[in-house]
Amino acid sequence: MPFSSFGLSPTLLKVLAAQNYTQPYPIQKEAIPAILSQKDVLGIAQTGSGKTAGYVLPILTNLQGNTDTKNRHAKVLVLVPTRELAIQVREVFILFGSALPERIKTIAVFGGVSINPQMIGLQGVHVLVATPGRLLELVDSKAVHLSEIETLVLDEADKMLNLGFQEEMKRIFAHLPEKRQNLLFSATLSDKLSDINQIILHEPVVIKIEPDKDYIGLIDQTGYFVPLEKKGPLLRYVIKKNDMKQVLVFTSSTFQADNVADKLCKNGIDAVAIHSKKSQGARSEALREFKSGELRVLVTTDLLARGIDIEFLPHVINYELPRSPKDYIHRIGRTGRAENAGEAISFVTPEDQHHFKIIQKKMGKWVTMIDSANIDLNH
Ligand code: AMP
Repeated sequence: MPFSSFGLSPTLLKVLAAQNYTQPYPIQKEAIPAILSQKDVLGIAQTGSGKTAGYVLPILTNLQGNTDTKNRHAKVLVLVPTRELAIQVREVFILFGSALPERIKTIAVFGGVSINPQMIGLQGVHVLVATPGRLLELVDSKAVHLSEIETLVLDEADKMLNLGFQEEMKRIFAHLPEKRQNLLFSATLSDKLSDINQIILHEPVVIKIEPDKDYIGLIDQTGYFVPLEKKGPLLRYVIKKNDMKQVLVFTSSTFQADNVADKLCKNGIDAVAIHSKKSQGARSEALREFKSGELRVLVTTDLLARGIDIEFLPHVINYELPRSPKDYIHRIGRTGRAENAGEAISFVTPEDQHHFKIIQKKMGKWVTMIDSANIDLNH
């Protein structure tokens, strides 16, 4: 089934071809027709499955011929849990939207940066991508109104509920018109999520894309047994030995992220840490440099484990293991995306060994282990 069979706006097909989207991904095959016909959708799919284009393409098509709006009254609202995801989703709307004959204005709003430019930017908005807290501030100050929202998207809905956005979501829902299209995407279907489904979704088309076993299979996973004090030298060894050019390193605390990045820099390996305590400007700049290949190592916490799409990222290193097996899969899912091979390396201390076994069991795959005691880390 080619993209041309859906009835998407013809100019979008040209952008799809230019972007090398040759075939729709499974989630797109099901979501695009459902959204085009104004149905509610519950999509259970991992990031990396192509769900963003799965909702952006039909939403943009539906907006053609329907762009007249009162000033500061958005027609589409996309709620996301993090600033990075907000920026990324806006980029996808702009990538496809800029090709359309009728102009569609998309803006992303999120906390941690000055509110004034966002207030000004909301003039003439059609598509609003937002994190909940900042959205409410903007609604309270009447910089934007939600009474004309025709389509609501909750992206990474499971994450939003985990992060304790429930109260804010309730307040946002109170501003929305009752009649609207609701699209809810989540990597997992939790109990909390079932509650929210029942509140907001009306006879949804349910799309469940099983995580592709081949997708994990595409990732070459290795574990290193290493004592705690040898992790720093091992990290430098692994990066240098394999001549890694673009590596995402995960730590479990902001303190450790800074620490690891500092040590790498001191040893001549270009690295920057980004996490929740860094300013939005610093985070965006580091991510931009990393995506463009200017920055060799990006060190981060689980803030970025979900949702962030870095094209063809070749290496992910778990300097510290995540607590949950699900987060492990999300972390390593930053590589091997969109059908490209990738490599994931995990450092496993004696204390971590039991936990790493649990992770592997949950994943259904055993990871090749190397004992760092057999390696001369100085070479
Ligand atoms: P997402 O799950 O929305 O973050 O998308 C994951 C990645 O897949 C992004 O880099 C998209 O540009 C890419 N992508 C999405 N749909 C397609 C497609 N049909 N063909 C090729 N690449 C795609």
